[in-house]
Amino acid sequence: REILSMKNITKVYGNGVLANSHVDFSVNRGEIHALMGENGAGKSTLMKILFGIEQPDEGTIELDGKPVKIASSDDALRLGIGMVHQHFKLVSSLTVAENIVLGKEPKKNGFLDRKKAVEITRALSERFRFDVDPTAAVSDLSVGKKQKVEILKALYREVKLLILDEPTAVLTPQETEELFEQLNKLKESGLTIIFISHKLNEIKEICQRITIMRHGKGVGTYDVTGLTVED
Ligand code: ADP
Ligand code: ADP
Repeated sequence: REILSMKNITKVYGNGVLANSHVDFSVNRGEIHALMGENGAGKSTLMKILFGIEQPDEGTIELDGKPVKIASSDDALRLGIGMVHQHFKLVSSLTVAENIVLGKEPKKNGFLDRKKAVEITRALSERFRFDVDPTAAVSDLSVGKKQKVEILKALYREVKLLILDEPTAVLTPQETEELFEQLNKLKESGLTIIFISHKLNEIKEICQRITIMRHGKGVGTYDVTGLTVED
């Protein structure tokens, strides 16, 4: 039932900062799991390790009960782990469709097949009911739309575990409601989601469990039902 189990993760940066100290973090299949903690608590570091951006000094990662080595983001994607960054990693000079297929569809003479990219994006946006215009330039998009493109890009890679780094920080209340509806649908279709957030009211609205970090350590994992704002 556990899709992810990170055990005893320790990470010291080159400057000597102990960002993660013996952290255990497990996620059940099909849940929306919150990761909460103050700035500097070590949340991003833990997620960067899971997505292959940083390497831990100590610790193990299991996916579906099997030990895995995640040496790069390509490894993470191959293993079915996707990440939507707080500051998006889209290429502004390309269209929505080109961004979605970039890194997955092969290039011909250095160029992506634009027509195919548009078809793929149209099919994805219909399947998941994300209204994005495949031919729009990414540089013209609002942050809410950019976020949709990043989520669709991960879904095109058929990820089974999606990390969202403070996804509501850049959204209006209305966009947040729309995102939550979409996340609930994705959850129903079997996707597992890690939701990094500071906002307990949002966590209570869409997450089932929460893991709290403080000063680089895991404080604990709790069911969200029954949590009070003082916790
Ligand atoms: P959070 O995501 O909870 O805000 P981070 O994982 O970003 O926490 O940061 C944990 C600690 O590690 C902080 O003290 C931060 O300044 C430090 N840190 C983060 N990234 C780096 C880095 N690349 N090099 C050095 N220190 C870092
Ligand atoms: P985010 O919250 O999106 O991770 P940050 O502003 O915390 O953005 O960090 C931006 C980049 O700087 C990240 O790659 C992070 O690892 C790095 N970083 C954060 N804190 C430090 C630090 N104390 N020393 C060096 N790099 C850091």
